Amino acid sequence: MGLFWKRKSGSDFISLGLSTPDEPVAEQLEEKPVEPSPAVVEPAPVEPSRAAIVEQPVAYPVPPLPPVARVLEPQPAVLAEAAEDEEEGFLKRFRKAVSATRENIASRIEDAVKGKKKIDAVTLEELEEALIGADIGIQTTLEIIEDVRKQVDRQSLTDVDELKRVIKQHLLDILEKAERARGVASETSIADDVRPYVMMIVGVNGVGKTTTIGKLAQRIKADGNDVLICAADTFRAAASDQLAIWAERAGVPLIQQKQGTDPAAVLFDSLKAAKARNADVLIVDTAGRLHNKSNLMAELEKMKRVAGKEVPGAPHETLLVVDAVTGQNGLSQAREFMKVADVSGLVLTKLDGTAKGGIAVAIAKELSLPIRYCGIGEKADDLVVFDPKAYVDGLFE
Ligand code: GDP
Repeated sequence: MGLFWKRKSGSDFISLGLSTPDEPVAEQLEEKPVEPSPAVVEPAPVEPSRAAIVEQPVAYPVPPLPPVARVLEPQPAVLAEAAEDEEEGFLKRFRKAVSATRENIASRIEDAVKGKKKIDAVTLEELEEALIGADIGIQTTLEIIEDVRKQVDRQSLTDVDELKRVIKQHLLDILEKAERARGVASETSIADDVRPYVMMIVGVNGVGKTTTIGKLAQRIKADGNDVLICAADTFRAAASDQLAIWAERAGVPLIQQKQGTDPAAVLFDSLKAAKARNADVLIVDTAGRLHNKSNLMAELEKMKRVAGKEVPGAPHETLLVVDAVTGQNGLSQAREFMKVADVSGLVLTKLDGTAKGGIAVAIAKELSLPIRYCGIGEKADDLVVFDPKAYVDGLFE
């Protein structure tokens, strides 16, 4: 859970002068004529968007940064100390985020075995209820119970601590298997010439997508990188406004077009701007209208094509944001979303707001996707890299 992004120092915040359809666009143009950017004059691959970009008067007041910036090279001892502090803080925060779930599971397990000399059939039934109650999922629960039953029959499992250890190991196996299934992306292994690293963020409205993008931007920038955000959810005006607030807070430029613009065009703009600035990372917000599946699928496909054309291999990650509070509903929503987007990993938000945080296990198992990050609060730094061991330990210790 060390620093993820460590390529070069960050830059100053540059406001893009975000525009909305209500702004006095003509006046702005008179006062401050803006040279058409290369992204506009070059043959744009996304035909329908061109008009929208040209119409947009405040195109790119983003001066490209000099290609080479200062390289951060802290001393090893300082780094080691900082990493230790960070690790300790990280584990504490993780433990706190799953505290309600821990109480839910642990107290039920304690109740199930209280005053019993050995693990019997009734204990197993109560244990089953406890695990299902924490949203670990029926299938997983039954597997765990079956294994525990076998061990009890063989008399190799007799006390409650041992019981907890067996359950923990099961949960850890599931989470680690999901990581291996896809391989967890690690930005530290990104080649230097992959620039910008493009992260597409998908998920239905309300799950915490905007908040997650803001938190990610802040985190990646804090690690010394140039970050840009692309507001490609052009359907909801409110989404763009919220994103602008987060971008400003994180001190990260936002590329935005007026409501209704083709999202692929906004992405095209953003890729151009990111390349012009030699930015390290581009985080792309997308629409979450799952009720119109075929439209959304076409929209996301088109965005993928545009990204891949502009930056080889992009998008490098497509993260699906899932709200932990919605439990099994969130899981079925995620399943639906995976039909429209080629998801590479998950962000589990609001883990702090539920006693049913076992959903992380159900999600990892049923979707075979690694959980990359989790949201543990509403503040900008309330995002942590998901660590299976820290999560499982947090549930039981
Ligand atoms: P979007 O519609 O998916 O973009 O959702 P938002 O980012 O606007 O978030 C919806 C609500 O969830 C807001 O009130 C956020 O403050 C809240 N939220 C997002 N992430 C977290 C989290 O990790 N923990 C908590 N407690 N609240 C969160």
